[in-house]
Amino acid sequence: MRDLGSIRLLKAVTGPLRTNAYLILGVETSEAVLVDSPPGVWEALQPILDKGVTLKWILLTHGHFDHAAEASLVRSKTGAEVFMHPADKILFRVSESVASDFGISWVDPEVTNYVSGDENLNLISSLRINALHTPGHTPGSLTYYLADFLIAFTGDTLFKGTIGATHFPGGSYKDMASSLRKIFDNLPLETVIYPGHGDESILRDELIRNRYIKEALLGEKE
Ligand SMILES: [Zn+2]
Ligand SMILES: [Zn+2]
Repeated sequence: MRDLGSIRLLKAVTGPLRTNAYLILGVETSEAVLVDSPPGVWEALQPILDKGVTLKWILLTHGHFDHAAEASLVRSKTGAEVFMHPADKILFRVSESVASDFGISWVDPEVTNYVSGDENLNLISSLRINALHTPGHTPGSLTYYLADFLIAFTGDTLFKGTIGATHFPGGSYKDMASSLRKIFDNLPLETVIYPGHGDESILRDELIRNRYIKEALLGEKE
C-alpha cells in the first residue's frame, strides 16, 4: 500500500498472467476506483469493500482478458461504472477465446462510459484523472494519469524495462511509438508509473534504462 495523502493505492496481482489491479482509495470519502479487472480480482477486492469502501468506478486500460475478464462481475456486485475505449470492443471475441485457453470464463465488460480520446475524468472532487489514448498494444489502450499525485497507470503500454507487445490482433508498433512519445511529451519525468504487469518505475528511469523507449522515441523522430 502506498499512502499519497488524500488517496491510498493498493495493488493486487491476480489471474494466470499475474496482472496488476490497482485500487485508488479516497481516504476521506471511502470511495474507490479500480484500475483493471483481471480474473480473480473480485476475491481480492471483497475484503476491502467489506470494510466500508464503496467502489464507484472501474477504469479498464484495455480489453484483453487478463485486464477485463471480471469487469462485469465487479460491476454486478458493486454497481460501479465501467470506462473503456470503444476501439477495444473488437477484441472481446479474441479475449474470450484466449481466456478459455487458460480455463477462465469471459464475460464482455458492460461498459457504461466510453472514453474515445484524451479526456479528463472528474470522478471524485479530489481526484482528477486524465485518460490518454495510447494505442499500440491494442487499438483502444488507455493510460490513466493523475497529475495531482504524479502517478500514471500504463496498462500493457509501458512496463519497467520494456514495452507492451504489438503483435496481437489490433496491435501496431507505429502506434506504440507515437503513444510512448505522447506519454513522454505530456507527463513529467518524475511521474511514477504503475504498469499492468510487474513493478512500478519512474518515467525518468525508463528514459535512461529502457532501450525500447530510446528506439521508439528516436525512430519516430527520424
Ligand atoms: Zn494486454
Ligand atoms: Zn496484460
